Amino acid sequence: MGEIADHLHSVRQRIQKAERDANRAPGSVQLLAVSKGQNIAAIESAVAAGQRMFGENYCQEALNKIQALAHYSIEWHFIGTLQANKTRRVAEHFHWVQSVNALRIAERLDRQRPTDLPPLNVCIEVNMSAEVSKTGVLPSGLRVLAEQVRQLPRLRLRGLMVMGRPQDYRQAAVLQQTLIEEGFVLDTLSMGMSGDFEAAIAAGSTMVRIGTALFGARKK
Ligand SMILES: *Cc1c(COP(=O)(O)O)cnc(C)c1O
Repeated sequence: MGEIADHLHSVRQRIQKAERDANRAPGSVQLLAVSKGQNIAAIESAVAAGQRMFGENYCQEALNKIQALAHYSIEWHFIGTLQANKTRRVAEHFHWVQSVNALRIAERLDRQRPTDLPPLNVCIEVNMSAEVSKTGVLPSGLRVLAEQVRQLPRLRLRGLMVMGRPQDYRQAAVLQQTLIEEGFVLDTLSMGMSGDFEAAIAAGSTMVRIGTALFGARKK
């Protein structure tokens, strides 16, 4: 087995164990392979090992990969900081944007999502800890932004992407649950990275975003 296939296998096993340890249903946590800074061959190795969901942070780097890998059925997630002048390309080429953190960005994505594609799946990026992240809406602003995003017809609000420390993850799960109780239909709580994904799964994550544990150190 190649190295990436090997890493994928062991990360999947760790996810399954974390699901069991937390009394979560098997398969309730999805794996997003974060391929920023990795080359096309690395992504192809992961695809050959059965991985289908990939996350990218930088628009131009991602578009090159999406084009080069167009013959595979990959689901692409944009997880980086999204500048207004990049929203059109992202709305045209990605299946998900997890890093929506302002109404202005959401409105642009909504307007620019091509009509021949299904609505763009989005998560609202929540900043649970100013120490860890400088981007993302603060918990106090989440409710209003979620209400606004819900009104946009070409976006489909799926849940939250959380940046934070392990000790913030339970609070993030409570925020998500509160929105669900208020009538939002959400199925995605994206939290946990290479260094802390087991803790995120224990706290209720439904999607972990893993880069270095799959691909090794980034090339740049
Ligand atoms: C880079 C990145 C990851 C992956 O981080 P690793 O520590 O390499 O697993 C996850 N989420 C976001 C938003 C990232 O930018």
